Amino acid sequence: RAPQKTRERWKKWGVVPRGVDREVCEGMHRTHMGVDHEPDNLLMSAVRVALADGWAGSMISTDISDVLFGTPRPMRGKAGFGMFKDDQVNIVVHGHEPTLAEMIVLMADDPEMQEYARSKGAAGINLGGMCCTANEILMRHGIPTAGGFTNQELAILTGKVDAMTVDVQCIMPALVKLSERFHTRMVTTSEKAKFTGATHVGYEEHRAAEVAKEIIKLAVDNFPNRKKNGYAATDQQDLVAGFSQEYIEYMQGGRMRASFRPLNDAIQVGRIRGVVGLAGCDNPRVPAQGLHLYLAKEFIKSDVLVVSTGCGSHACQAAGYMTPEMALEHAGPGLKEVCEAIGIPPILPLGSCVDNSRILTILTAMAAEGGLSEEIGGMPGVGIAPEWMSEKALAIGTYFAASGVPVIFGGESPVGASNEVTRIMSETWYERFKGAFHFEPDPEKIFDMALKYIDAARDALKLKKYEPGKFGVERVLMDMAARRESSL
Ligand code: SF4
Repeated sequence: RAPQKTRERWKKWGVVPRGVDREVCEGMHRTHMGVDHEPDNLLMSAVRVALADGWAGSMISTDISDVLFGTPRPMRGKAGFGMFKDDQVNIVVHGHEPTLAEMIVLMADDPEMQEYARSKGAAGINLGGMCCTANEILMRHGIPTAGGFTNQELAILTGKVDAMTVDVQCIMPALVKLSERFHTRMVTTSEKAKFTGATHVGYEEHRAAEVAKEIIKLAVDNFPNRKKNGYAATDQQDLVAGFSQEYIEYMQGGRMRASFRPLNDAIQVGRIRGVVGLAGCDNPRVPAQGLHLYLAKEFIKSDVLVVSTGCGSHACQAAGYMTPEMALEHAGPGLKEVCEAIGIPPILPLGSCVDNSRILTILTAMAAEGGLSEEIGGMPGVGIAPEWMSEKALAIGTYFAASGVPVIFGGESPVGASNEVTRIMSETWYERFKGAFHFEPDPEKIFDMALKYIDAARDALKLKKYEPGKFGVERVLMDMAARRESSL
C-alpha cells in the first residue's frame, strides 16, 4: 500500500519485512550476547521490525477496527473531567484494545443495564474513555474523553469513578493502590496484564456481551459506595474528532470527486506550508498539555496543517483546541482560508496511536494525487512526538523515518551516548529513505527544525516559496471608483 518509489527504497536497502514475528524474533536474537555488533546492521534490522509494525501490524489493526466498528467520521464530543456525573454510574474504559470497549458502549445502553443502575439509585450509566481506548470510542460513538496517559490517576482523584477497566499498555502500576484510597473498582480484563489487588474479569471474544455486562454490573454495585472525598473538577471542552483518510478525501470533493487535490494544490502554492503529524504520549516530566499544545498552536499559526493521534490529541482536546471555531481563530491566514473552504479544522485528530497508520495512508494518497513528491520521502511533512515515553513510540518513529518522514522526538536521546548511532539515524537514514530520527529536548528547536525540513522539501520540489501572510488577506468590499482604480 506504500507508494512504489518508497517500496523500491526498502527493497534496495534490504528492509522489506518478511513477517511480523520473524523480524521481532530475529531482532531479539541479534541483540543477544555476542551476535550483531555492527550499529548500522543492527539498526537496519530495527527498521525491518518497525516497518512490519507500521505497515503490517498497525495498519491491519486500523483496517480491521474500521471493518468491525465503522470508519470514523467527524463527530462532536467533550473532553475533561466535567464529564463525570454525580447522579450516574461513571465508568472509565482505559487501555488500547477496542473490542471490549465497543461492547461496553453497546451494553451501557441496554435497557436491562439501565434498569439495574436505577435499582441502585443511579440515574443512568455514564461512560468515559482514557488513553487510546478514549480515541477509539470517541471517534466512533462520541463518548467523552477523560484524557490521556497523565490523566488516569487524576480521574480517580475526582472520587467519581465507580469502575475503571483496563486492558493493555500505558496503565500506571499505582492505579490499584490509588483506587483503594477512594471507592473506585479497578478491573483488569486481559490475560496478559494483571494487577495485584485489582478485580479480574477476563475478556473472551465469544462471550463479549456477557463480560461487558459483568463489568457494568460491578460498577453499578459500587455506585452506592461513592464517598464525598475527591476534588471537584467541572471543566469540559467541546471538540470534533474522527477524521480518517477516507473522510478527509471525501471532504475534499464529495462522494463523486473525492481526492487530495485541494490539499496538494494548497501546499503547492504555499497557502499551506506543510503538514505535521503530532503524535504520541503525554508525559509527567512536562507540564500538562505542555509541548503538544505549544507546538500545535505554533504550527497552525505558521500555516502548517496538524494531524494528531494518541495522547497528543487529548492534550489539544482538553485545552479546547479541537473545535474548528477555536483552532481557526489561531490559524495562519493561508491555512485558515483552506480549512474554511474545505470545512475542516486546522488540527485533525486521526485516532489512537495504532491509527498513526492513517498518516501513512494519507501521505500515500497525497503522493498518488500528484504535484508533490511521488513518494512519502520528500513531502513537506514532519512527524513529532514531543512527550513520548512508551517503547512503541520508538517503533512508530522508526517506521515513519524509514517510510521517508523526518521525525523529531522530545526529551533526551536514548541513543545520545553513541555519536555513530545518532549519525546513522539522522544522516544515513536521510540519505537512504529521505526520513530521519532526531531527539531534541527544546520545544522551540523542535519547531524550528520541523519548519526547516518542511521548507527544504518545498525547495527541493520547486514549490512556490512560502510567504507568511500572503494568503487570506482580509477581503475589502470595493466601490465602483476603487474598482476602476485597481483595473488601471
Ligand atoms: S500515545 Fe503513548 S501514552 Fe498515549 S495511549 Fe498511546 S502509547 Fe499510551
